[in-house]
This record gives sequence, structure tokens and C-alpha cells, in this order.
Amino acid sequence: MTATREHFTLEELAPGVHAAIATPDGFGLCNAGIVDLGGTSLVFDAMLTPKAGEALGRAAQRLTGRPTDLLVHSHYHGDHVRGTSALAPVRVVSTKRVRELVIERAREHLASDRAEVPAELEGLRSGRIPASPAERRILEAWYEGILATPSDLAIRPAELTLERELVIHGSRRSARVLSFGGGHSPSDVLVFLPDERIVFLGDLLASGFHPSMADGDPESLLRILAEVRGLRPDRALPGHGPVGGVPEILTLEAYVGSLQRRARERRSEGKAPTETDGELPQAPYDRWKFSQFYRKNLEFVQDRLGPSSTAGT
Ligand SMILES: [Zn+2]
Repeated sequence: MTATREHFTLEELAPGVHAAIATPDGFGLCNAGIVDLGGTSLVFDAMLTPKAGEALGRAAQRLTGRPTDLLVHSHYHGDHVRGTSALAPVRVVSTKRVRELVIERAREHLASDRAEVPAELEGLRSGRIPASPAERRILEAWYEGILATPSDLAIRPAELTLERELVIHGSRRSARVLSFGGGHSPSDVLVFLPDERIVFLGDLLASGFHPSMADGDPESLLRILAEVRGLRPDRALPGHGPVGGVPEILTLEAYVGSLQRRARERRSEGKAPTETDGELPQAPYDRWKFSQFYRKNLEFVQDRLGPSSTAGT
């Protein structure tokens, strides 16, 4: 099965612009983007494993007629960077902060993931960890992908860094590589194609999946999503889930707002941030995958509110 495992499906967003959408059973886990700039090829995110990264590099070569000139790391999380070396880009691009985080944390995160995964897999398979069948499929592939990743994998950090913006001008189109700071993670990078009004958002957007928020900053995430809407994109590629647009961005903003409201209610009810047993996402978020993140997100958002003020402010 592994030999024929399909890690993503390709979707043409415009001539020369493709989304690689992670399959539920593949080792890609996150989505990626492939752009033919004309004389330069750009790939956005490297997926979870070397196997998926290698397949993505092959797809980029086929679609652009070139090896991958530039790989953009949207942020340092393992499911977006571990395919980097196998994808074999000429240059990796990201912020200085993402570069530092890849250097400082990538190896340690892979080691801790590999240590935790066997218990998680056992929990899923035994039913101890609740998950819908659709969710179980994705989580199993995620965990198997981690186990299939060599423990000594070296992850190439960015060789080219930007602070706020880097514009790459090809003969066919330009790409704006942008960072509005960190919202989902300490530093997040996106790619906007102004001619096609397509934006690749990494985990600044999740669609039909609970985002993982505990490594970021909810207020900054809302600020960044408003900046992204200000670009007036027609289509937005999330890190997880199908291609969407502004409605999906607004849905995520509403989700963050609902967590903030619930966290404030809980604080006024005198509940500790960690006492989240029985907290369940409300519709429409009750149908979202990665449901394990809901309570973690709520805990994180409430914890950031701090203790209830006795001054009544
Ligand atoms: Zn992430």
C-alpha cells in the first residue's frame, strides 16, 4: 500500500497555478501550492514527510517544467516543513523567525512526535480516543507518516529570509511573499498572486478542520486575517481543507470569536482554564475534523484572558 500511497490531489486554480490538496490517507497532511512564475517555479510548503515532499517536487517539475527554484515555508510546524530536503528546492524562503524556529525546534519536535505517536495510534485503534471514521482515517495516516519519517531527518531552514515582503517577478506572473507577523504560530508567511487574486495561507486558515491555536496568538490571528481580506483574494488555499475564499476566512474569524466568548463566560462562571471536560464545539464547528484541538484551543484562549478581575472591569 505504501508504494502506491497518494499523498495529495492536484487542483488547477489558474493556468500555471495549482493546489496540492492533502488526501485523507496520504502522508502529506497539509496542503501545498505550486506556481509557475515563468522562468522560476515556486512551491508553497513541503508537507509532512519526505515521501510526500518528494512526490510534490515531482509534481512541481511536471507542472512547471523546472526543478523547484523556491520553496516557501509558511511556518515551522512539522507537517509543513519535513518534506523540504526530499523536495530538493534550489532555495528555501521564509522569515528569519521561521528559519530560527526550524533550526531550534524541528529536530526536537520530530523526536517528541515519534515518541508520542505509538500511544496515540493505539488509543485511536482501541477507541480510547474518540474520533469519527473520517477523522480516524486522517489521524492514522498522520501518525503513520510520522513513524515513516527517519528519526535523523535534517530539515533545511530558509536560506533567503524576508521581514515583511519579498516580491518575485517571473515572466508569467509575480508572487508576493508576505508576513504580517505571527498568528497561528510565532511567525506566519503567505503567498499572494495579485493577478489571479489567489492566496496561499498555510495554517492561517483551516477549513472544515479545527485550527491548532495554542502556538499562536488569537488577537494577532484575527488582525492578520483582516489584513488578508484586505488583499481582496478571490480564492484562498488553507493549510487544511478544501480551497475556499473570503467566506471561509470569515468563518474562521467567527470561530475564534466564539472561543473568546465561551472563554469569558467560563471565567465568569469560575471555571479553571483546564477544566474543559464536557466542552463541545457548537454547530457548525461540531462537524469539523481535528476535534481534539477544540478543548486545547478553548483552554489556551481562556488561559490568555488571565484570572477574573475583582475590580469589575
Ligand atoms: Zn501549523
